[in-house]
Amino acid sequence: MTFADLGLSDQLLRAVEAAGYTEPTPIQAQAIPQVHMMKDLIAVAQTGTGKTASFVLPMIDILSHGRRRARMPRSLILEPTRELAMQVAENFEKYGKNHDLKLALLIGGVQMGDQVKALDEGVDVLIATPGRLMDLFERGKILLTGCELLVIDEADRMLDMGFIPDIEFICEKLPGTRQTLLFSATMPGPIKKLADRFLSNPKYIEVARPATANVNITQFKVPVTTRRKRDTLRQLLRSEDVQTGIIFANRKTTVRELNKSLRRDGFASGEIHGDMDQPSRMAELDLFKRGKINLLVASDVAARGLDIKGVSHVFNFDTPWHPDDYVHRIGRTGRAGAKGRAFTFVADEDAEAIANVEKLTGMQIPVYALEDAEAIPAIDQEIAAPKQRVERTAPAEQSRRSEPRGRRLREDEPRRADLREDRPARPLEEREPRRREYPVEPPSAPGEWNGPVPGFLAVSAL
Ligand code: AMP
Repeated sequence: MTFADLGLSDQLLRAVEAAGYTEPTPIQAQAIPQVHMMKDLIAVAQTGTGKTASFVLPMIDILSHGRRRARMPRSLILEPTRELAMQVAENFEKYGKNHDLKLALLIGGVQMGDQVKALDEGVDVLIATPGRLMDLFERGKILLTGCELLVIDEADRMLDMGFIPDIEFICEKLPGTRQTLLFSATMPGPIKKLADRFLSNPKYIEVARPATANVNITQFKVPVTTRRKRDTLRQLLRSEDVQTGIIFANRKTTVRELNKSLRRDGFASGEIHGDMDQPSRMAELDLFKRGKINLLVASDVAARGLDIKGVSHVFNFDTPWHPDDYVHRIGRTGRAGAKGRAFTFVADEDAEAIANVEKLTGMQIPVYALEDAEAIPAIDQEIAAPKQRVERTAPAEQSRRSEPRGRRLREDEPRRADLREDRPARPLEEREPRRREYPVEPPSAPGEWNGPVPGFLAVSAL
């Protein structure tokens, strides 16, 4: 199949060719015709499958007809993080270069002035994180009544970050006749309910997880003690041919300290995590993308979905607490047909997490035998085994209650909700409780999804 078979316009075909794509990925082959036909869509697909182009390309064709109006965006794309929002904007610019479309990026952490000005001038595409969008909406700077196309991207990530009430609120403000596309790596119950409530007779598409199916990524787990993690990392960085590598850690303090120590040792490294302001995050990413630094120490919240060409290695300094994050982390390498290597450090404290990863991915990750593991001197012990610091003030019991998956949190593990960065800090009591109607059991099998099922249960969203 070719892109021309999908009915894209000539201008788009030229842009796709310039991007170097010769044939559509499975998600693109399935989704593009549906979007063109103005159908609602549920697509179960992860980053790395080419899913961004699967909605951006047909949207450009759809939006090329029509006129923009001040403060009334014609389409809206919701993204869970600022980095993902920026990435989608870059995709729009790349594929839309032969079209006269205006886009505005509404993300937290940057000045609102320019964003408001762009809205005032009229935009075809608004790409936003829910928090900043809600903020501008509540200030009366934006009207959603002219928005005929909505994309909810990374819906399960939105759920993890506590954005679902905001998304419901936003959906209610859009015209009922709009077209809605929902993308999610997994389909947990609350996302099915969201889809049932806000999508109309959607087409259901599911494509394979790229990481589990991606034979281009060679995966290893590295048994190590907590004390030796830093030395083991240094050893691997020297013995492996690391052109560019991302080193993931579970805690922001680990990210900061690890980067500091790598720099002290002469490595060209940078850091990215949720405590940094947006300009610093963008600056670090830029250095990494331009090859000024070749190692990026990252937390999950800042790094999910990042599409950086030529990442040869991923190191999981800690095994991620949530197995989905493993798939996302290692998916930063082995992209676009390139080969990649992923090393996951497993200390005693990581044992449960790695078991969950292997269960999710359905594979036993081979053990990487380090030469002379015992001979590596354990220097910098203080940072290798950081003192347990409690970074949040919420009582542990309260944190456990709000954990979405019903799993007990470790003492030092942040709540998923604490990882949110883009929601405005609004006290809970300012939010009006809204009663929701949810279906009891939405269908879950792949194939055509024929809308809501009977049998409704009234629950309160907040
Ligand atoms: P995404 O899943 O949207 O994050 O895309 C993953 C990567 O695949 C990005 O680097 C895209 O530029 C690339 N990509 C998207 N579509 C294609 C295609 N048809 N052929 C090759 N690469 C693609």
